[in-house]
Amino acid sequence: MATTISEAEELVRQTGPKQMLIGGEWVESAEGATFETHDPATGDLLGVIAEGGAEDVNRAVRAARFALEEGPWSKMSASERGRLIHRVGDLIMENAEELATLETLDNGKPKAVALAADVPLSADLFWYMAGWATKLNGGTINPSVPYLPDAEFHSYTLREPVGVVGQIIPWNFPLLMAAWKLGPALATGCTVVLKPAEQTPLSALRLGELIQEAGIPDGVVNIVPGYGETAGAALAAHPDVDKVAFTGSTEIGKLIARTATGNLKRVSLELGGKSPNIIFSDADVDAAIEGAAQGIFFNQGEVCSAGSRLYVQSDQFDRVVEGISEAAKGIKVGHGLEEDTDMGPLVSAEQFERVTGYLNRGAEEGNRAVTGGKAIDGPGFFVEPTVLVDAKPSDTIVREEVFGPVIAAMPFDDIDDLARQANDSHYGLAAGIWTRDISKAHRLASRIKAGTVHVNTYHVFAAELPFGGYKQSGWGREMGEEVLKNYLETKSVIVGL
Ligand code: NAP
Ligand code: MG
Repeated sequence: MATTISEAEELVRQTGPKQMLIGGEWVESAEGATFETHDPATGDLLGVIAEGGAEDVNRAVRAARFALEEGPWSKMSASERGRLIHRVGDLIMENAEELATLETLDNGKPKAVALAADVPLSADLFWYMAGWATKLNGGTINPSVPYLPDAEFHSYTLREPVGVVGQIIPWNFPLLMAAWKLGPALATGCTVVLKPAEQTPLSALRLGELIQEAGIPDGVVNIVPGYGETAGAALAAHPDVDKVAFTGSTEIGKLIARTATGNLKRVSLELGGKSPNIIFSDADVDAAIEGAAQGIFFNQGEVCSAGSRLYVQSDQFDRVVEGISEAAKGIKVGHGLEEDTDMGPLVSAEQFERVTGYLNRGAEEGNRAVTGGKAIDGPGFFVEPTVLVDAKPSDTIVREEVFGPVIAAMPFDDIDDLARQANDSHYGLAAGIWTRDISKAHRLASRIKAGTVHVNTYHVFAAELPFGGYKQSGWGREMGEEVLKNYLETKSVIVGL
């Protein structure tokens, strides 16, 4: 058992899968290419990983096609399929410590967060989806056919797996994003080629081992780590992939949608956000302050549904800004394996440049940092939790997704104006409303164009709850019963009697 950070890093270098999983075998890339993954808090090397390219994607798609059509998976009863999926959830919990450590080292997030959120949510997603395997029922339908007035029919629908699925996931919740994608694909009987983010491949590869241990047949889940521009693009373009599911930036989401037109594969997208968090004067303001702080600072702000636009009714504005600034100052930033760490580093140099670039841009545009506003000296990609004020609706900080611990606070007076501002975004992923007035909460919840609206809470994720975006925040929903539609075709069977 590793006791120091460097021992933990060494253990990761020495153990755990670094190759790719294709057809049940752990293999090197066809061209022998590799890439490195690092601890973003120290810069230390964690592993040299097999780098998937187009030929590896071809091999993985062939394995997935074979598993779909010829392997035991397609003949397995739904009940047995469900039990195997359930077992994946069990194995995740049995290996919670190890998975949380991997998540912390590869992504930077505090281990306490990984243990409390990422790992149990991942297990729960598999447990929840396991139950759906046996409940994918069609319906019986009585058609009335005008030109066959005397005919009688018996007709029904079948729900069938969409087929071979390509899944491309980001680095902010590496294990959980893999779970969100794999769970419904497996429940519906699909087979998968999964590409984890290049910054954070380790937990998905370890999950691959657990999937094998659970007894999921070879080739049902193939994992090809590598870069988006090569492995990801090859997967999105592949003519023998029936569906692509993507989570990441809106920019790449659009590219995926265009690429997918080659064979008109099905597309689901879970993209960025610029979510409004709204505090009315009649709220429990202390709870709202805590919730708004958590809504932006959780997971270093690297959350697609982060509440990054804070709207506060004017007479409480100063109190809320002070409260959330105090909360920001109280956040202990450090290595995620240290027990008292509340916030880790950003995931990568690229993300660090992005976030600090937005901080500089904000300063140029006249946004004032009440607290934070700067990078923290390295090593490691650390930035200060930041509260900005003096932001106009047209400012970059109000319009663009920062994906870091940066919130812009703005006062409002009128609810109609507030609703218009809240919806004044290309994004529509999430929102928060803090008020004790129930009618106001429900009315505003129905006016806000977002896939998730929280009232007097924030960042509630559960396997049962659909999650996804309006507008440019995506196509389709993750989780809940809703996600199953992404992975099923409906077939009408009509029998003339
Ligand atoms: P990204 O480029 O959209 O990456 C997401 C995934 O897509 C990664 O696996 C990535 O591979 C892959 N990818 C990249 N280019 C691709 C292409 N041409 N074809 C197919 N797949 C491709 O996101 P990012 O660069 O890591 O982060 C940039 C911004 O995206 C963030 O700052 C944030 O605003 C947003 N983001 C949103 C979410 C979310 O949950 N909605 C998550 C992460 C990031 P690589 O590993 O090579 O990049
Ligand atoms: Mg990228």
